[in-house]
Amino acid sequence: MAASQCPKPHFAVIPWPATSHMIPIVDIACLLAGHGAPVTVITTPASAQLVQSRVERAGQGSSAGVTVTAIPFPAAEAGLPDGCERLDHTPSVDLVPNFFDATTPFGDAVARHFRGLMATRRPDCIVAGMCNTWAHGLAHELGAPCFIFHGFCAFALLCCEYLNTHKPHEAAASLDELFDVPVLPPFEFKFARRQLPLQFLPSCSIPEVRLRELREFEMTVDGIVVNSFEELEHGSAARLAAATGKAVFAVGPVSLCGAPGLLDSRADSDDARRCMAWLDAKQARSVLYVSFGSAGRMPPAQVMQLGMALVSCPWPVLWVIKGADSLPDDVNDWLQDNTDANGLPASQCLAVRGWAPQVPILEHPAVGGFLTHCGWRSTLESVAAGVPMATWPFTAEQFLNEKLIVDVLRVGVSVGVTKPTEGVLTGVKSGGRTAKADVETEQVKQALDMLMDGGVDGEARRAKAEELKAKAKAALQHGGSSYMNLDKLIQFAGSKWISFSS
Ligand code: UDP
Repeated sequence: MAASQCPKPHFAVIPWPATSHMIPIVDIACLLAGHGAPVTVITTPASAQLVQSRVERAGQGSSAGVTVTAIPFPAAEAGLPDGCERLDHTPSVDLVPNFFDATTPFGDAVARHFRGLMATRRPDCIVAGMCNTWAHGLAHELGAPCFIFHGFCAFALLCCEYLNTHKPHEAAASLDELFDVPVLPPFEFKFARRQLPLQFLPSCSIPEVRLRELREFEMTVDGIVVNSFEELEHGSAARLAAATGKAVFAVGPVSLCGAPGLLDSRADSDDARRCMAWLDAKQARSVLYVSFGSAGRMPPAQVMQLGMALVSCPWPVLWVIKGADSLPDDVNDWLQDNTDANGLPASQCLAVRGWAPQVPILEHPAVGGFLTHCGWRSTLESVAAGVPMATWPFTAEQFLNEKLIVDVLRVGVSVGVTKPTEGVLTGVKSGGRTAKADVETEQVKQALDMLMDGGVDGEARRAKAEELKAKAKAALQHGGSSYMNLDKLIQFAGSKWISFSS
């Protein structure tokens, strides 16, 4: 039988329950189904609707090939508020360990669910979010290969592998001392310990025992699935494969898996319509889009410094503000006086306090630059839309991504932020509302000037961004690198499954 005629393995895709992980891994599920593999996505009751609507939108109205199964999440038993089924819904950093505690019995419940199915309906391989460490035992029991999805790019994973192996951060005398992370010669990368992902920080809200489990999990899986494409990261995926000894499959940008503009169930809200109508009234490439991801919050003092830079710049600005409810009255009054919430066509600074339809915004011809926290999905969405970035990393692996954007890809201007921005659920206790602003108005303005204007360098960045956009689109098209990697992943999973089960 030709390889293309062999029955495709049945994938169980098990997202780590955090919004920013769920969306891309569900997109991967849709892409696998699009390549003919049957897929079951395991989720929890509170997230089932989000997952189902994502599946239907990616399938342009049909969920063909993808089954969504909700397994109850034991939030209350773990001391979490009822219905707290995603990490980003955890009301405080102190409850993060409880969230991790809940995932073990959740894993047991998933295992019971699969055991209760007829053998022919059980999955043949598993793709699991990186903190679902229990998935490896389940895969073993089912005789199925297990793949991990972190949500990081290959470059950031390569840096993490280097840090895990060589531990340069442990030799640093302070949180600010710079050390080399020589993972992609001839580029040179220096980081301070405080700029690293949570697991490398001396104080982290994830318990030590969980961190050990995470590392063991990533060392025992059969392969790594990455939301990226091979042409983007200067060979990082191949280097990651060599460094870890694992098969690495770059299958993105997964945000391109569905119909344009239909990628988010919130894309047709009032906020979304206001954004798009406001953009329609602006000139091509004139707008600066400002957003710091799904949860990015700043201390009030920092919001003010940023806000003063945004309202004084000569370009129209679309500014997404998260956590506005918890800003003090004086900051909210200032926002009300200096920005527009209604989307009047003539206004210079449109402030969106809810959820903005980021992918359609970035793809709108009026958008000329993106001030981003360097979350990997935002980065890749900007690359896929051909929009250059100004980089303001907040936390997690975002300082690593900044180096890729600015130094390697040359599609970004660094704002020059050296410390994590407090106010987000970083896992590190922060000064919260009273924390001071580390980044001054003038510093932001300089970076934005370079991004939006930028002369010859600006033109070079825009040309490079256009080039990457074309490569991103080609990667997922028939015969493109990500398209081929999806087929390879299915074949690899199928051959492992056959060898495990024979
Ligand atoms: N996003 C969005 N609208 C918002 C905020 C975020 O559509 O108002 C989406 C954005 O398009 C991206 C994701 O949320 O897909 C953010 O992911 P990223 O990895 O950039 O950052 P995180 O939220 O994990 O910090």
